[in-house]
Amino acid sequence: MDCLFCKIAGGQIPSKQVYRDENVVAIEDINPQAPVHLLVMPVTHHANIGELSDAAETALLAKLIGVATKLGRERGGDGYRLVLNTGPDGGQTVDHLHVHVLAGRHMTWPPG
Ligand code: AMP
Ligand code: ZN
Repeated sequence: MDCLFCKIAGGQIPSKQVYRDENVVAIEDINPQAPVHLLVMPVTHHANIGELSDAAETALLAKLIGVATKLGRERGGDGYRLVLNTGPDGGQTVDHLHVHVLAGRHMTWPPG
């Protein structure tokens, strides 16, 4: 499959990895929107959260959130923001499930 994040998770395309285990990879975003901007993704391909169905896939989402929370706590200041852009109107540009971890500045609301 011609998927950018599959290739990044598989090591065929270089990235700045900050975390890796059997199921999950976290990298630095190439176009950071905050002093800390990480992407936490599964090694296996799933287009987005709407494509997760069975219990094993739901458990994978919990694992992604767990890793994202750990990284936000370790690298954030007084808080952090997790974002899951989903679908065209959700602002998703790479169709491989990923959680953005944004931190290092005060986040505003509403988001753009
Ligand atoms: P989204 O728009 O939510 O699908 O997020 C995709 C993110 O991937 C964007 O924040 C991009 O800056 C980031 N991105 C795209 N290509 C790369 C790459 N080669 N390495 C790291 N991050 C990337
Ligand atoms: Zn993929």
